[in-house]
Amino acid sequence: MKKLLLLTWLFLITFFSHAQPKYALVIHGGAGVMDRAKMSPAVQKEYTDVLNSALKVGDSVLRSGGTCLDAIEKTIMILENSPLFNAGKGAVLTNEGMAELDASIMEGAGLKAGAIAGVRDVKNPIRVARAVMEKSEHVMLSGTGASQFAKEKGYEIVDNSYFVTEPRLKSLQELQRKERETTQNDKHGTVGCCALDTYGNIAAGTSTGGMMNKRYGRIGDSPVIGAGTYANNATGAFSCTGHGEYYIRLGFARDISALIEYKSLTISQACQEEVKKLTRLGGTGGVIGIDKNGNIAMEFNTSGMFRGYITSDGKKEVAIFK
Ligand code: ASP
Repeated sequence: MKKLLLLTWLFLITFFSHAQPKYALVIHGGAGVMDRAKMSPAVQKEYTDVLNSALKVGDSVLRSGGTCLDAIEKTIMILENSPLFNAGKGAVLTNEGMAELDASIMEGAGLKAGAIAGVRDVKNPIRVARAVMEKSEHVMLSGTGASQFAKEKGYEIVDNSYFVTEPRLKSLQELQRKERETTQNDKHGTVGCCALDTYGNIAAGTSTGGMMNKRYGRIGDSPVIGAGTYANNATGAFSCTGHGEYYIRLGFARDISALIEYKSLTISQACQEEVKKLTRLGGTGGVIGIDKNGNIAMEFNTSGMFRGYITSDGKKEVAIFK
C-alpha cells in the first residue's frame, strides 16, 4: 500500500511538472528621459504594440519547447526590425550619419557568449552574435570582419541606408546643430531580452545602435560581455540599457551576478544595488534580469524604460514610465 501511494505521488509530481513547465521572458526597449505629458497616447500605443508583439513571439517559442536562446533571438529580431527602437532598423546614427550596430548574447548553462560590434550591414545583429557564440571559436567580432563572418554564414546583409530613418536623421541634425553634449541626448531605444526556458536554463541578449552622434568607432557596453549582457544559471541573466561608458566601467551586468553569488542578494535587490552604483557615478539607464526560478527584475534610474514581461502562468505586463 505504501509503495502504491509513493508511486502515485511520484506519478503526480512528474505529471504536473511536465504539464506545466515553467518559463518566463522579460524585455526592454531602452531607458531614458521619457515624459508622460510629452508622449501622446498614440505614440505610447505604437511602442506598447511592438513590445506586446515581441512578448508574444517569445512566449510562443518558450511555450512550444524552444530554448531561451531561440526565444531571445526571435524576440529581439522583432525589436530590431521595428524602426521605433535603437537597434537594427531605426538605430541612432554616428557623427557621419551611419548606423553602426552592436549586439551580444550569453547563455547561463555553459557561460558561452557571442558578440558583434560596430557593424554597418548586418540586418539582424542578434542572430550574428549568436552565430559567433555557436559557430566560431571567438566571443567578439568587430566591423568588417564581423560582416564577413555574417556573409560566410549566410546571414542577411543590407545596405546601411536600410537602418537610417527620417526621425533619427532629424535628431542627429538637431543635435549637431545645437552642438549639445552628445551623450546626454536621445539615447533610449536599445533592446534586450532575458529568458528562462522549460529546461531550466536562462540567457540574455542585447542589441543597439549605440549612442547618437558617436565617433571614432565608439563601442558601448551592449556587446561587452559582463557590461551590457551577462548570464549564469547560478545567479541570473541580465541585459542593460543606458549610458554605456558607465556600464563598462562598472562591469555592470557581471557585478549584479557577483552581488547575487557572493552576497546572496535576490535578483531585484542586486539590480537595485547596481543601479544605485550607477547613480552615484553619475550615469543613467536601466537593466532587466531573470533568474532560474523565473523571478524578474526591471530597474532603472531614468524617468522611463520601455519594458515588459510574460510568464508561463499567464502574468504579463508592458510599461513605459516609472
Ligand atoms: N547602452 C547603449 C550604449 O551605450 C545605449 C543605450 O542603451 O541606449 O551603446
